[in-house]
Amino acid sequence: MLSRMRLKRAVKGSAGLAAVAASPFVRASTAASGCIFAYHRVADVRFVDASLDDWNVSPTRFEQQIAALVECAEIVRLTDLLGRCRASPPPDRPLVALTFDDGYANFYTQVLPILKRYRVPATVFVVTSLVGSEHPPAFDGWSVKHGGRLDPDAWRPMTWDQLEQCLASGLVTVGGHSHRHLKAPECTPELLIEEASRSREILVSRFGEVETYAYPYGSSRLGYVPDAYVEAVAAAGYRLAVTYDLGRVTGQTDPFRMPRIEAHGVDGPAIIRAKALGSLAPYRLTDRFRQARRSA
Ligand SMILES: [Zn+2]
Repeated sequence: MLSRMRLKRAVKGSAGLAAVAASPFVRASTAASGCIFAYHRVADVRFVDASLDDWNVSPTRFEQQIAALVECAEIVRLTDLLGRCRASPPPDRPLVALTFDDGYANFYTQVLPILKRYRVPATVFVVTSLVGSEHPPAFDGWSVKHGGRLDPDAWRPMTWDQLEQCLASGLVTVGGHSHRHLKAPECTPELLIEEASRSREILVSRFGEVETYAYPYGSSRLGYVPDAYVEAVAAAGYRLAVTYDLGRVTGQTDPFRMPRIEAHGVDGPAIIRAKALGSLAPYRLTDRFRQARRSA
């Protein structure tokens, strides 16, 4: 049986997978649809912990992915994506939006310079109670375990000043990712209302209008996006929200249950391009490997 490390190398080096992704049979499923990529950490992490997912894409790989995306798609603001999917005539290139959960400092140090270099927009979702914290977020088991081995920017949240500088670039939109990153299945409806409303109140007081929200953990199937949470997010004044459900956005997508596609550290240019164009086969293959690690 392949060890996890050997399996990872096999996935990374899979010439067959790359060939599938680059084939002419992988086309945009429809011009009037879009893909929201979900990222977390973008940092140089030079070790693998088979027991915990690091949710990491290296800065070098991230830049490769952005370079590939700008060639094959139009990268738009998340807040513009639904409207662009509904527009007539439809856009002539596939639409892509970039999102980053948890608001790590490496968004400021690693991601922002690349966004500026390629002049592409992105949304970063922050946990309002953790902005400026000097401790690894308690919900992030990987950071708690390995924080001492790494540059702190790999795990600590951005400061308010760094967030201000991100906004000043004109490329970054800040969204809410709850106040404390609680798990919805463990929350009462009242607590969900507090998580959504408190996060938006704090962000609006800092930045003015804030429209977007990302549900922590985000899987509808696993109960992290109950109707009560959707209602709480809408009542708080957010205009759209993203889940961790796999799928593409179309003009018919519920603005408070927008699906996303994870961008993985193993995704080379051919794979990220195939994901953007609508083929989920590469996603399912690389994610199968990641699911094995998560359940280990
Ligand atoms: Zn999160």
